Amino acid sequence: MNKVHVFNAGPCLLPQVVLDNAKAAIDNFAGTGVSLLCISHRTKEWEAVMDETRALWKELLHIPEDYEVVFLASGASMEFLYVAMNFLEKKAAYLDTGVWASKALKEAKGLGEAVAVASSKDRNYCYIPKGYTIPTDADYFHITTNNTIYGTEIHEDIDSPVPLIADMSSDIMSRPVDVSKYTMIYGGAQKNVGPAGVTFAIIRKDALGKVSRYIPTMLDLRVHIDKESMFNTPPVFSIFVMNETLKWVKSMGGVEAIYELNRKKADTLYAEIDRNPLFVGTADKEDRSLMNVCFVMAPGYEHLQDEFAALAKSRSIIGIKGHRSVGGFRASIYNACTLEDVEALVACMQEFEQAHK
Ligand SMILES: *Cc1c(COP(=O)(O)O)cnc(C)c1O
Repeated sequence: MNKVHVFNAGPCLLPQVVLDNAKAAIDNFAGTGVSLLCISHRTKEWEAVMDETRALWKELLHIPEDYEVVFLASGASMEFLYVAMNFLEKKAAYLDTGVWASKALKEAKGLGEAVAVASSKDRNYCYIPKGYTIPTDADYFHITTNNTIYGTEIHEDIDSPVPLIADMSSDIMSRPVDVSKYTMIYGGAQKNVGPAGVTFAIIRKDALGKVSRYIPTMLDLRVHIDKESMFNTPPVFSIFVMNETLKWVKSMGGVEAIYELNRKKADTLYAEIDRNPLFVGTADKEDRSLMNVCFVMAPGYEHLQDEFAALAKSRSIIGIKGHRSVGGFRASIYNACTLEDVEALVACMQEFEQAHK
């Protein structure tokens, strides 16, 4: 069988070594003779995995001392509520950069005053708003650093006069981040750091405990910090695979080295989109995501969309259909996607150009 090139937007491709180690652990976890799926989470073997996973997060992202990392079952969509529950007292400010950002805002509105300080909805979220003012009376300012559906990304760790909270579901571990600029960074694992079923949250500990509302136990981030993400049964399999994924990131030279690779992949693909007369990118150039590359057929070639999709499929290129709200194509080139995968897509685009010029 030809190598399959997977560009799925999420759950993402995972490195083969991660999948192999997960398979082996399903047979026999850490030499216990018991399947990973059947172990007790109250064992020293499992606690070692939890400790190692936390330590890898801290090491790979250079997380400062006064922060803690927790792993939560649920999903990034649930974390929208965690944010508002734990940080919204009087007013929250959000940057509306797409569907995920507006869903996060909706959860805050359910609990208090929450405003969008700027939005890029006017052009179907194909850019990151600039020149907005963050209200200084807000309890926090929420951003979505990578907009998975539209292929836009906030490339800098912005300065905020109020606590900064970021959904980094789809660009975590893809680039270096100055964690000290954020009060909380969170996201689902399944875009870059593991399979579905677990989320991460990096939290500055002294920022918690400032709201007056009753917080249900399972939604209280302090509980999960205190209990080291084991207040209740953790999603053992998902955390194990996340741990393996982080070990792989480290083996690749860490986030800094992965970032270089990611830039090279993105540059290669965007260069072809900009060069090839049959295709055009949808996001503004300065805001282009390094993770999700969105493009459509160029004007005059729209009728060829299905034909290109069919050619890609025949070349074992999987998962490039654009999100229904944008159309066209989206190649998600997360950490585990290789330069060879990207080059296969570029070759397919060039083959298509030759056939239709
Ligand atoms: C996928 C995604 C989400 C939603 O994740 P779930 O775990 O499915 O709830 C939220 N934010 C961003 C940026 C995403 O890409």
